[in-house]
Amino acid sequence: MFRYEVRQWLTSVASKYRATDHLDHDTLVDIRREWEGEVARSGYAGLSWPVEFGGKALGPIEEFVFSEECSTAKTPEELGRVGRLLVAPALFVHGTRHQLTRFLPPILQGTEIWCQGFSEPNAGSDLAGVTTSARRNGEHYVINGQKIWTSYGHYAQWCIVLARTGIAGSRHHGLTMIAVPMHHPGIEVRRIVQLTGSSEFTEVFFDEVEVPPDCVIGAENDGWAVALTILNAERGARMAALALKSMSDILALLDHCKGNHDEFQAAAVSLGSRLELARWHVMRSVERMASDRDPIPAASVIKIAWTELMQEAIRIGFRTNCQEHRDLWRYMELEARCRTISAGSSEIQRNIIAERILGLPR
Ligand SMILES: Cc1cc2nc3c(=O)[nH]c(=O)nc-3n(C[C@H](O)[C@H](O)[C@H](O)COP(=O)(O)OP(=O)(O)OC[C@H]3O[C@@H](n4cnc5c(N)ncnc54)[C@H](O)[C@@H]3O)c2cc1C
Repeated sequence: MFRYEVRQWLTSVASKYRATDHLDHDTLVDIRREWEGEVARSGYAGLSWPVEFGGKALGPIEEFVFSEECSTAKTPEELGRVGRLLVAPALFVHGTRHQLTRFLPPILQGTEIWCQGFSEPNAGSDLAGVTTSARRNGEHYVINGQKIWTSYGHYAQWCIVLARTGIAGSRHHGLTMIAVPMHHPGIEVRRIVQLTGSSEFTEVFFDEVEVPPDCVIGAENDGWAVALTILNAERGARMAALALKSMSDILALLDHCKGNHDEFQAAAVSLGSRLELARWHVMRSVERMASDRDPIPAASVIKIAWTELMQEAIRIGFRTNCQEHRDLWRYMELEARCRTISAGSSEIQRNIIAERILGLPR
């Protein structure tokens, strides 16, 4: 019933926001903002959030169905994704009442965009090695340091920053999660041009940036627990649901480009089965979430499954040498390289599976 309702709604609204490959990045951003406003106005933002914060108190299954249907209708990717899918779950678990009422409404409406300030030049996979510091100085925390690969940093009003409040070398035990307003003096944002020519992420520099203590999410020095909540949301089923449909589109394109070539025909069949398997993994995880069972063991498995499948499908598509879609395959080939790096590389996911799920020795 819910899927049917969403599909009906999308039939009436989605065509206004459909992005094409030919639009420049800034135009796409405007379309994404407008789409987010439409979702919020129609009551589909924050489907699983409590009613008192503007949600519908539905569950992960409805969130999954909504993501799938939006992908099918080719609606644009959300610009406020970090706020809705990563920051909000962290606030529900670790935030104060004041933080929930301050931060959630603009996240839901799409009027405040968040970025994620975790990675640094010397701390990516080894996230517990971050050195950006937050020093308590009377009424404020004073932040100094640098973040890198910060997606949407140039559009964001807020950054969720993982900073060191403990002594140097305190690793997981000396980190604190802080919501930092991006317009504060001392913040400089520089765009990074990517391999594809577009520029979606940034470097962010903090020079004596003052932030009040009520911006600390969770307890001081307990930021690692907040980071884990965010990382699991980032690697888990909801993000994968968004990716699976674009995988179907890639396979449909491969089907179009493969011609009568035996090797490509066999590859398309095999990739189709693996995509279905990945979807079942995701649905199993969504079901675990819906019944309040721990979905976390599946997150790393799901991340590896869809990202590596996507890269393999694109590599094969590129090799078909289809003249009609050669430029698109080339673009996707460059763009997809980041998938096995962002949100934790495949090597790191395999380490997590080996150590934490299978219990293998280091
Ligand atoms: C498109 C994209 C968007 C991103 N957006 C954000 C964002 O918004 N905010 C943010 O904070 N970060 C973001 N990142 C950064 C991302 O989280 C990091 O790139 C990722 O965690 C890897 O860290 P690194 O780049 O420092 O690589 P490194 O950690 O230096 O790793 C380099 C290589 O060594 C391997 N390696 C490292 N350690 C081990 C180990 N112990 N065992 C086996 N192999 C290992 C890695 O797998 C990798 O192949 C983004 C990245 C991309 C690509």
